[in-house]
Amino acid sequence: MTAGEIVFKGMGVSPGIGIGQVHVRESGAVIVPEYKIPASGIKKELARLKAALTLARRQIGHLRTKAKALPGSAADDMNELLDAYVQMLTDSRLVRGAMRRITDEGINAEYAVNEELGDISAAFAAMDDDYLAARAGDIREIANRLIGNLVKSPTKSTTQTPKGSIIVAEELTPADTAQLDPSRIAGFATVGGGAEGHTAIMARALAIPAVLGSPDLLHGVANGDAIIVDGDKGRIVVNPSPATIAAYEKRKTELLGDARRLNRLRNQPSITSDGTRIGLQANMELPVQLAMIGQAGVTGIGLLRSEFMFMNRPDIPSEDEQFKVLKAIVEGMGGHPVTVRTLDIGGEKIAASLLDKFGDSVSSALGLRGIRLSLAHTDVFETQIKAILRASAFGPVRILLPMVSSTVEVRRARDIIKKAASRLKRHKIAIADTLPPIGIMIEVPGAALSADALAQVADFFAVGSNDLTMYTLAIDRSDEQVAGLYNPLHPAVLRLIQFSSEAAFRANIPVSICGEMAGDPRYTALLLGLGFRELSMTASSIPRVKRRLMEIDIEAAKARAQVIMDQMDSGRISMLVEDFNALA
Ligand code: PEP
Ligand code: MG
Repeated sequence: MTAGEIVFKGMGVSPGIGIGQVHVRESGAVIVPEYKIPASGIKKELARLKAALTLARRQIGHLRTKAKALPGSAADDMNELLDAYVQMLTDSRLVRGAMRRITDEGINAEYAVNEELGDISAAFAAMDDDYLAARAGDIREIANRLIGNLVKSPTKSTTQTPKGSIIVAEELTPADTAQLDPSRIAGFATVGGGAEGHTAIMARALAIPAVLGSPDLLHGVANGDAIIVDGDKGRIVVNPSPATIAAYEKRKTELLGDARRLNRLRNQPSITSDGTRIGLQANMELPVQLAMIGQAGVTGIGLLRSEFMFMNRPDIPSEDEQFKVLKAIVEGMGGHPVTVRTLDIGGEKIAASLLDKFGDSVSSALGLRGIRLSLAHTDVFETQIKAILRASAFGPVRILLPMVSSTVEVRRARDIIKKAASRLKRHKIAIADTLPPIGIMIEVPGAALSADALAQVADFFAVGSNDLTMYTLAIDRSDEQVAGLYNPLHPAVLRLIQFSSEAAFRANIPVSICGEMAGDPRYTALLLGLGFRELSMTASSIPRVKRRLMEIDIEAAKARAQVIMDQMDSGRISMLVEDFNALA
């Protein structure tokens, strides 16, 4: 228990107030779910553990391939260690103990492994022997790998973290965040992370209040402490006084009232004060958002980040699995177009199955990310494309290619898509009569600079201002240390955005913007002034952006955008943006 009220500052990345109890997540550890297994489910649970063991042995096999590259005796040492790991995964106290716990105590596999690990560690620690201490480290390594594999294939997506918990951690990955259950988790706060990273995007998607980038956080909290996460102001209050709690409860009620009032805009047409219609579309990261998107009065899904289908599982999803998920989304949108972006794993957005299969380059921001992975491993791409094409039989679909940097990539992708369509038709599998439009993300500076050429081979553009800002300014969007330098109002970024939209206008192809800028009402006038008429954003941002655009006169916004585009300094640009907003 930590004494007295302590306030920590960070970046508020997902709005709202969370009031609850601290649940510390150890660095590097996954949240170990704990639940009971009924007698009828024991056999299945044992099979789950066996599958995790098989996967772990395969993973060790990959490590062996890597070990070969090590010089001389280092390779031998590594192989010896890996032999010991395989032994532990085959027949060991850890495995036998976990199996016994599942059978006798009726608990889930990851909890059983964790409990057994706890007992073994305690026994070894009591012996005070250096050799045994090292072995305990090896056992922990294997147990954590097993738990990681099990958590990636959950039988339930919800953990038994107590209701009202606020997760406090060194870092949460986007895949970790995707697993948080908003009905149990009242908020989260971490030491690492940036406002435009995918962890922040996932938090907004799930409407979980979150504060990231709070350096001293972990020193000031203990499990069970009362805590408030203020996702609007970027504040974390540990052991709040009764007066602080009362003030935040009041604020929560006010926010609820605001949300209700904003919700009334839902059925209002999305038009500016001079009568220009603006298309408001939704970004989608997880299927649970479908209900919220359905209620937001959108004209479609402008960006379906398909990565969620590949996260938190040990393998790559089959065509049928992907098809079922996509079909449900397409049908759920009731005739509004769904823009499915093909797989964009990379940077901080990692799917362990792809990393295991294709190596580290998959996780590098400058590596095998987005379309590059798809074109290097066409089997994964073709499977996804076939699933998308099959879903296109159930409603309008567009295909969006991420991380494109050249016309060659678009031509190759189009070729693969056309061939997949022909193959499906030959096998009499239903797809839409006409091939879905094939568009590209403009998020690599080189793509923005060659937008004229790309507009000749793409059917539409979606400007990804998140990555465009990151790559133009060389600032990692998920790194809190440089978060203060991340600025989409930098003149270089704005010029690339304008360059792309104008290329689209000249080529007469649709262009939208789907980076986080699109969902921030501070930037609505600037984006409309630059000519955008389609904005795609997380559903919860739609009412605020709609309220803002209803006040805007397009001619005035264009004039202000022109003044802004003549500026060299982002501070001055920011002032001109704010000043125009204040005129409303
Ligand atoms: C972007 O980069 O702006 C974008 C929308 O894609 P993501 O955030 O998924 O990288
Ligand atoms: Mg991107």
